[in-house]
Amino acid sequence: AKSSKILKDAIRTIPDYPKPGIEFRDITTLLGDAWAFRRAVDELVQPWAGAKIDKVAGIEARGFILGGALAHQLSAGFVPVRKKGKLPHETVRIAYSLEYGLDEMEVHKDAVKPGEKVILVDDLVATGGTAEAAVRLLREIGADVIAAVFVIDLPALKGADRIRALGVPVHTLMAFE
Ligand code: 5GP
Repeated sequence: AKSSKILKDAIRTIPDYPKPGIEFRDITTLLGDAWAFRRAVDELVQPWAGAKIDKVAGIEARGFILGGALAHQLSAGFVPVRKKGKLPHETVRIAYSLEYGLDEMEVHKDAVKPGEKVILVDDLVATGGTAEAAVRLLREIGADVIAAVFVIDLPALKGADRIRALGVPVHTLMAFE
């Protein structure tokens, strides 16, 4: 509880970004703080210390920064889940809804072997739409998604519940109401 307060203080809030009325939770201040970054990575993987995790899947772009560090810590491989059109090999693609309109994300078809244990990571879960799409995509290529982890939860938007409803345990380090 003590470290989560210090980690929370390492997040910067930007009012009216990217548009009026939105309070953007900026993790670059946490990433730039050596102690906070290390501590956040340690706490994100802590429930799986000693477990055999095959892959960490990170959602573009901030999930890549965390995911590389998590993969190293777990001695796992890393899988990028990207916006459409960025991956060079054969992919599977899924459409998902954003606040306005639709977007699509992709993963390489051969990024995981059937049954491999995968932890999904992103910086923040809001509505859960992005993470749900990533879980569906990873399952489509045969992954056993054993957890989804996020630095920040916005519990009012119930995104973590949405991911748990898919049968995926969720682990977050802090919440902003
Ligand atoms: P969701 O799909 O859960 O509604 O939105 C989560 C996605 O939007 C994540 O990929 C996350 O990076 C991004 N996102 C939404 N709001 C914020 C925010 O306040 N701060 C940060 N860092 N990312 C956000």
